[in-house]
Amino acid sequence: MISNRIRRFAHNASIRTRLALAFSMLLGLSLSVSLVALHRFETLSTSMHEFVDQPVRLAFLAQRANHHSQYAAIQLLRLLQTPGRAQRVALYAEMDAAMAASDAAIGGLARAAELTYQKNDIAHITTLRQAYGSLFQETVELIEIEGLPQAREHFEQHTDAALNALLRESLRLAEYQRERMNLAVENFEQSASRTRWLIAVITASALLLGSMLALLISRSIIAPIGEAVAVAETIADGHYHKQIPRGRGPEMRVLLRALATMRQSIMLREERISRLAYVDTLTDLPNRTHFMERLAIARSRGHGALLLLDVDRFAPINNALGHVVGDRVLSEIASRLNACVISPHMVARLGSDEFAILYEGVDRAASAGHIQMILDALHKPMLLDGQRLDIDVSLGVVFYPDDGDDLTALLRRADLAIKAAKRRHDRYAFGAEFEDVVRHEQLTMLGDMREALARNEFIIYYQPKMNLVSGRVAGVEALLRWHHPTRGMIAPDLFIPFAEQTGFIREITPWLIQEVITQAARWRSDSIELVASINISALDLLNPLLVRHVTQALEQASLPAKWLCLEITESALMEDPELANSHLNTLAQTGVKLSIDDYGAGHASLAYVKTLPVSELKIDRAFVSQVDQLHKNAAIVRSTLLLCRELGLSVVAEGVETASELQWLQVNQCDQAQGFYIGRPMPLEALHAWMTSYHADNVRPHVELRS
Ligand code: C2E
Ligand code: CA
Ligand code: CA
Repeated sequence: MISNRIRRFAHNASIRTRLALAFSMLLGLSLSVSLVALHRFETLSTSMHEFVDQPVRLAFLAQRANHHSQYAAIQLLRLLQTPGRAQRVALYAEMDAAMAASDAAIGGLARAAELTYQKNDIAHITTLRQAYGSLFQETVELIEIEGLPQAREHFEQHTDAALNALLRESLRLAEYQRERMNLAVENFEQSASRTRWLIAVITASALLLGSMLALLISRSIIAPIGEAVAVAETIADGHYHKQIPRGRGPEMRVLLRALATMRQSIMLREERISRLAYVDTLTDLPNRTHFMERLAIARSRGHGALLLLDVDRFAPINNALGHVVGDRVLSEIASRLNACVISPHMVARLGSDEFAILYEGVDRAASAGHIQMILDALHKPMLLDGQRLDIDVSLGVVFYPDDGDDLTALLRRADLAIKAAKRRHDRYAFGAEFEDVVRHEQLTMLGDMREALARNEFIIYYQPKMNLVSGRVAGVEALLRWHHPTRGMIAPDLFIPFAEQTGFIREITPWLIQEVITQAARWRSDSIELVASINISALDLLNPLLVRHVTQALEQASLPAKWLCLEITESALMEDPELANSHLNTLAQTGVKLSIDDYGAGHASLAYVKTLPVSELKIDRAFVSQVDQLHKNAAIVRSTLLLCRELGLSVVAEGVETASELQWLQVNQCDQAQGFYIGRPMPLEALHAWMTSYHADNVRPHVELRS
């Protein structure tokens, strides 16, 4: 019952109470030790007083009585030898004083006798003193009455004996008192030593008790603090669901409650942060970071498939319909993907219109079903504000671990697959096709490329651009080919991106500019009117030497600038828009024509293009393809033509492959067309031959030209 109460107290008492209790107990303990010591010394000193004071006093008085009695006797003896009465008178006085002092001492003794056990002894001494006093008086009287000889005889026979008896007895008493005193001192010493021991024992016990108390109290404080520390450590380790103890004592309960609140807010904040770090806010899908982490884990666990998905022609949708609609399209795609990708598989949004799907444990055979499901889900038209919108996507499919040693290789190959799918107008492509290019050949390519320039392995092909009003060839686009000694003819798609990555393009482009301008000058002197177009990559455009290369070559060849056109992709403009813009302006001032290449493949809007000093826009092949059949493409090309006309931009349709495409473009008043249907890129001699027969009308495309 009581122990229960103590236990409850120990559990509930506040730290303040515990400390107060501990300190007061320690204080009490030390106080009691001091009190005991003080009391013992008090007792000791009283008993010492009792034991020592009386014997000393008695011995002193006895000795004093002796001394004065003896002195009086000596005076008496001197008196007995002094015959002259006149001399004796002086001695009487002294003698009387000595006797009075002796009397006083004996009186003192008698008074002290009341308090001692030596009453009888003292009474005996008093008697002896009285006897001595009487005999002394008798001797003195005899001197004056009968003369000195009688008095002397009386003294020797009686008084001297009485004095001796008195002295003996007094000495005995004094001796006895000394012995008593010695005994008292001995007793005192014993008692003092006992007291010393007692105090030592009490002090030691107090010390022991105090330390135990301190230990208990500090344990009772440290243990709950340890509990709180353990809780804080679990929070630090990120374990937010462990039970938090109630806590001992009010302060610890408050502290632990505060820790619980802190843990709750940390947990919420962490959730929010990781949401921000891992979730795409527009679609609520996992973002790139999250996806890459999952992919890394999945790769370490086994095999699977990775699908990269890119929305076709997303930029024009965004431009034409606005970003709000663009965002809704992306959200709709996300929710459709979410519906057909079931856990443990995962769908994520990697970037603007790029999504990725991870199928763990899925191989190529099993992937077909998933791919079809995704394409079917996205193929259904979307209804946004009553507007019907058809969306196309391209998929790049790779399998791990087969298609890439690391995540970068895997993603790069998936990216190449997407590009291939778009190029071929397939809905998907497998990354495995690109193995050779990606992995082995690029390594040796840089070394090879350096030699290629010196060995004249780069060949310039020219593709004609047809004026859709006159039907004549208005210009040519210079397209590079690499005639590799062992690998044969390599298409620019396979080495230009690499030359751009490695910076080698900065050596190729000046050479190309020189060659093309020289050729254009030759055409002019042969009265062949062709605007020559050159493709300029991002690195070239940012190169401060580009303007000088162009102007010098033009000067050397004495070619007016208007016969040269530089084609720039929007991605090249995006890398450093300010610098690109300033270079574009300088170039435009020289009179060189500037053209925006692959319009629609990226994200540039016409509103942006309008701000640039360009005179031509080339609509990307993807929109021109089947423009006569696909409502979507037709709408985009038509609106682009309309806008460009307003902006005063000449429009070139790229990738015209059929007669009906060409016809559609003509009907819709596109300015120029370029494509396999008109003429493929070809080497210089072939171009000349082709132009001769073209203008002779032999191989001219079968289209109705407007008159
Ligand atoms: P680009 O500037 O868009 O060039 C047009 C590409 O479309 C050429 O591919 C051409 O062969 C192809 N093409 C033309 N008509 C048709 C058609 O009717 N159907 C199809 N399917 N394709 C058609 P090419 O020559 O393989 O060049 C690919 C890309 O390589 C070029 O795209 C350009 O970006 C780059 N490139 C080529 N030569 C150079 C160069 O000298 N310098 C730079 N920086 N890039 C170059
Ligand atoms: Ca081009
Ligand atoms: Ca192009």
